[in-house]
Amino acid sequence: MIWNRKAECMSAEEKEELQLRRLQEVVKLAYENVNYYKKRFKDLNVHPDDIETLDDLKKLPFTTKTDLRDAYPFGMFAVPRDEIVEVHTTSGTTGKPTVSGYTQKDLDIWGEVMARTLTMAGASKKDLIQNCYGYGLFTGGLGVHYGAQKIGATVIPISAGNTQRQIQIMQDFGSTILTCTPSYALYLSEVLQNQGVEPEEISLKSGVFGAEMWTEEMREEIENRFNISALNVYGLTEIIGPGVAQECTKKSGLHIFDDHFYPEIIDPENLKTLPHGEKGELVLTTLTREGMPIIRFRTRDITTLRQEKCECGRTHIKMDRITGRSDDMLKIRGVIVFPSQIERAILNIKGLEPHYQIIVTQPHHLDELEVQVEASNILFSDEVKHIEDVKKNIEDHIHDEIGLRVNVTLVEPQSLPRSNGKAVRVIDRRNL
Ligand code: ZN
Repeated sequence: MIWNRKAECMSAEEKEELQLRRLQEVVKLAYENVNYYKKRFKDLNVHPDDIETLDDLKKLPFTTKTDLRDAYPFGMFAVPRDEIVEVHTTSGTTGKPTVSGYTQKDLDIWGEVMARTLTMAGASKKDLIQNCYGYGLFTGGLGVHYGAQKIGATVIPISAGNTQRQIQIMQDFGSTILTCTPSYALYLSEVLQNQGVEPEEISLKSGVFGAEMWTEEMREEIENRFNISALNVYGLTEIIGPGVAQECTKKSGLHIFDDHFYPEIIDPENLKTLPHGEKGELVLTTLTREGMPIIRFRTRDITTLRQEKCECGRTHIKMDRITGRSDDMLKIRGVIVFPSQIERAILNIKGLEPHYQIIVTQPHHLDELEVQVEASNILFSDEVKHIEDVKKNIEDHIHDEIGLRVNVTLVEPQSLPRSNGKAVRVIDRRNL
């Protein structure tokens, strides 16, 4: 099922023409109505009239999270405040939150891209969508909500937390689609398992999981435990919320809704645009947003773009699963390490729970990396010799993945903190 065949299966020529026209409009809108952009354009000596091809986008300034924070709260709005009908913010855990403002037309577009997203995961009017993304200023809850309503599905706005109630509703209502963070999905499946509920006793068929990074191995875990198809959704508050990109059932990359969001990949060090197929930082430009147009937003997410034919019929460009964030990127003894690499190594070993925590210290001016991993009950009841073997095995796997020796500690099952939202994977105790 495809939600909007005309938009999702457009020919390359047709799309480029549409993208260019929309880009020209949005650049003009930003330049004329947002002081930040007017100033930056002037600094770089560029004008909206300079955008004659899509390639000319390169001439335009980037927008960073810091720029958005500096404009807090409403400095990036391109319309009078009273035309903004809804606001959302980022969590602000790493500083001042950034505000995202939507006109009614922006909300309609958000509903449209989320309808495409949910349809990709098999949702139709007949489905019951258990939406455990948080409602409120966070974009996850309402983003899914608007998409579900557009489709006409039954949305269960249960929001995050209260796991016992989640499980009861899931069983009693017969929820068919689950939307939440992958770490919460894993936690839910664990609680179900502990309560002796078999996958056959629930009606779930698929899940739309995002808002944090996860791996193929974690997908397998979730799919097996729930007996569902687990799909990856991508989005960010600064651009619109969830619904920037979504995986189709082919599971070979996420389709970016590139008639609304124009992607580029840059080298995060020298900021040069990289050709398709090369790994780098994802940069996004909103093509249709009117309340808060964003030009060349540096997402900090590391991925690759691929324009290839997909068996599903959609022609949206694809991006690979996010493999790291330049923010999460750890530099250990000069080597770049992403938590996702450690996760992949751990999940490649049988008998291990996909729960881990990375602790970085610097005891003698040299970085030390400790990885705590939960062992399963069977493993923990085993003899000491065996535990040492498992420890060594994980250390070897991680070494293969990141090229560094680390210390692995096996901890008791259920002993690492479980989260309702995003998992805290890294504790950096260095004074950097
Ligand atoms: Zn596809």
